[in-house]
Amino acid sequence: MPSIRWLLAFLVAATVILLYTFNAFERLELLTLDYRFILKQQKTLDPSIVFIDMAEDSIAAIGRWPWPRKWHATLVKALSEYHPKVIAFDVLFSEPQDEIDDLSFEEAIREAGNVYLPVLYDLKEQDTGHLNRPGNILSVVEPMERFRKYIKGTGHLNAIPDIDGVVRRVPVFIEYDGKLTDQFGVAIGLDGLSIFKYIPYDRNNQLIINWQNRWGKEARHYSYIDILKSYAAIKENRSPLIDLNEFKDKICVIGLTAAGLTDIKPVPIEKAYPAVGINGTVINSILKNDFIYELPKAVNILLLMILSIVMTLYLAKARLVGGIIFAIVSMLGYTVLSVWLFAFLNIAVLTFYPLLTIFLSYSFMSIYAQIMYTIERAKLFNQASHDELTSLYNIRHFNLLLESEFRHASSYRSRRLAIIMADLDHFKDVNDTYGHPAGDVVLKETARIIRSKCRETDVAARYGGEEFIIMLAGAGDKEAFEIAEKIRLAVSEQTFKFKDKAYHSTISLGVAQFAGERNKDELVAKADKALYNAKEWGRNKVCVFHLS
Ligand code: GH3
Ligand code: MG
Ligand code: MG
Repeated sequence: MPSIRWLLAFLVAATVILLYTFNAFERLELLTLDYRFILKQQKTLDPSIVFIDMAEDSIAAIGRWPWPRKWHATLVKALSEYHPKVIAFDVLFSEPQDEIDDLSFEEAIREAGNVYLPVLYDLKEQDTGHLNRPGNILSVVEPMERFRKYIKGTGHLNAIPDIDGVVRRVPVFIEYDGKLTDQFGVAIGLDGLSIFKYIPYDRNNQLIINWQNRWGKEARHYSYIDILKSYAAIKENRSPLIDLNEFKDKICVIGLTAAGLTDIKPVPIEKAYPAVGINGTVINSILKNDFIYELPKAVNILLLMILSIVMTLYLAKARLVGGIIFAIVSMLGYTVLSVWLFAFLNIAVLTFYPLLTIFLSYSFMSIYAQIMYTIERAKLFNQASHDELTSLYNIRHFNLLLESEFRHASSYRSRRLAIIMADLDHFKDVNDTYGHPAGDVVLKETARIIRSKCRETDVAARYGGEEFIIMLAGAGDKEAFEIAEKIRLAVSEQTFKFKDKAYHSTISLGVAQFAGERNKDELVAKADKALYNAKEWGRNKVCVFHLS
């Protein structure tokens, strides 16, 4: 039935789309994205991006965090002499420290002219990603005014984890107090660009971070303290650890990476990833125009719908084994396609939901096929065991039932069994007078009367032609006679109608009860004998078989 297939197709579509809209399997879908990153990532960032790590070695040399700002001042001064493109601190400078230190840092920033310092927004719901909700931003932690005055730019450091706590996206910009602030990496990546740059972001302003490689392998890393030592060495005419000329035109991202001080986040490619790396990765995306694109939700819904319909309708036609193979091949094929699209075209298509769609299409269709098969079999069985005209059992099936009942009766003495044979009187005349279809009406109506007068447990069948047979398990000839008499009376009182003709008929019945016959045919023959007697006695009679 094609309409049921379409119904099932829409049922699959509705189920999947509902699950997708309510993010029922968000974690699993995100997991497929992570695997695509793991399969893909192995590149390094744009060579102009370098990390300057404030790691254990620097802590050991300089002391406990936070460091006096004169150190940062010296670093800025050291780097500036070699003309980096940007000096970006992934550090908040919101509170005053020692006045002399602060002043030296302020002056270093002013002289360098290319320093970026970040801001951090205090979000009410840190973990839900609902950045756009009004009132979700409580306050902003900014660099001190004295530093802000001289910085080249700023950007926010907020990254909102997904429901599984993994950071996969950053808000491209945050609007607060009527002001838009770019993400820190976005701001740096756009530094000095006068042309329009398209950055794809979703409805929550979020950009998928395009991970390139594990922390430490994605770009050049320099030690903060080694740079200061090299700078000092150069001043003292000693040979430096690092050739500071390497920083020419570089974007220097300075961040804390020492254990216990680092802002560590779980990201798709690594369980514990220093947050400063997010900025380098975002800068890389902008410099290389290398973004991950997602399809809009509406397109995803449309695709899920098409997939549901195509799969379900196709699977409806497939055979059992063919269907399984098709479903498995489709799932594998889709997975490969999804990885390919991601690896080569940077397109992140939905993956879990389409796989679920194929699985559901297959499941729904096989349940449907199973039901249809069962119905078909029941129909065939019905056809094989019933008489088409009267809907009573046919004689073949009746004989099977009688055979088993007869064996019961033979085995258990207390078990009684009676048979009624019935034959319509002068039925040939009905056919001759009113026509064959009018005769059929009598046969059908008589069958209905027989069914209505029999007990629930009695089994009636069309014996052939205008003859009927009834098996009455547990009945003797007295009960059988009563039923036969009811049938006879009802038939004789019935007015049969066909088209505009009304006519009457009668029936003769013979009753016999089991009395130790060797087989069922002997019992049936007794009933037949009684029927013969009923005919002999003038028809429209019930006769009971008696040995005489
Ligand atoms: P009797 O009282 O001796 O039984 O007379 P009868 O005419 O009923 O007996 P007979 O065996 O001579 O005729 C049976 C008729 O039943 C002959 C046949 O045309 C008719 N018949 C058999 N099967 C069907 C059927 O399926 N539909 C119709 N309309 N008639 C049938
Ligand atoms: Mg007959
Ligand atoms: Mg007859």
